[in-house]
Amino acid sequence: MIQERLFTKNPYATDGRFIVGADLDGFFLHSVGCAGSSALSFIERWDNEAFTGAGINGFIDPTAAYVTAPCLKTRGKVKRMPHGGRPYANNHYIGFEMCEPAQMVYDKATYRLVGCTDRTAALAFVRATYQNAVELFARLCLFHGKDPLADGVILSHYEAGRRGIATGHIDPEHVWNYLQSGLTMAGFRQDVKNKMEELRDLTKEETNALIKAAVKPLQAELDALKKSVAKHVTAAEAKRIYLELEREGFVTEISDAPKWAQPELRTLLDTGAINGGTEAGQNPNDVNLPMDSVKVALICKRYVEIMSGKPPDKEL
Ligand SMILES: [Zn+2]
Repeated sequence: MIQERLFTKNPYATDGRFIVGADLDGFFLHSVGCAGSSALSFIERWDNEAFTGAGINGFIDPTAAYVTAPCLKTRGKVKRMPHGGRPYANNHYIGFEMCEPAQMVYDKATYRLVGCTDRTAALAFVRATYQNAVELFARLCLFHGKDPLADGVILSHYEAGRRGIATGHIDPEHVWNYLQSGLTMAGFRQDVKNKMEELRDLTKEETNALIKAAVKPLQAELDALKKSVAKHVTAAEAKRIYLELEREGFVTEISDAPKWAQPELRTLLDTGAINGGTEAGQNPNDVNLPMDSVKVALICKRYVEIMSGKPPDKEL
């Protein structure tokens, strides 16, 4: 976790000096060299007008990596905070201090580690702090376009001292080594690299590929659905055509009948000889007979008319 706790009073935080562009080589990892103080307590102590010992861009402990001077605001521009004890380190690198477990025991005279009262607890503290440092350094490398595996981008204070660009300190490896934690700066740089992969924004191609992969099973379902709908539509269509064909021989309403048959059908309906299944008062026009039956009804009507002396209107 990364949090911002910017110094407002530390004299280096307010001196207006920045490291910009190609001047920024990279980032130092430090360890405070004393046992048992939290990042926030360090920040409180260092954020003071009278504190002229050093500047730093952040403190890290198991709770978070706390950024104390701007370094993730503007690409290629970081607040210069003197942390390396020599001009090259201070003008080309920014640094971050890891806190140390309360279980570590230092010799007050030599500042050397001489003991640890609870290795398990100390290791838990160190590993949690390390993880926050990994996250912070990954963010820094991503933000400023740095490769953590490239030479000289990420250095411990110890490594920088060996290169002659910082004072000859032993942090932070001395804590890792004393606890036989297995942690190394080479491992740290690799972990930062891995974390960057995890954190970096996806490219457009990667986003599209992910969407495609997610949509693929849905696409198959959609295709199946389309096929099934096509089948359904075909069946419905077939039914509609069938009904249409069938209706040609069926007189539902009087208007369905051929024009020549309509006046006589009208008479049959009006006299109640046929009624289409509904009373004339409800629907005077329904016939609901096959055309063949309509013809029979008309033949009967004409037969009755002939027999009663009235000539038929037309040939059937
Ligand atoms: Zn240091």
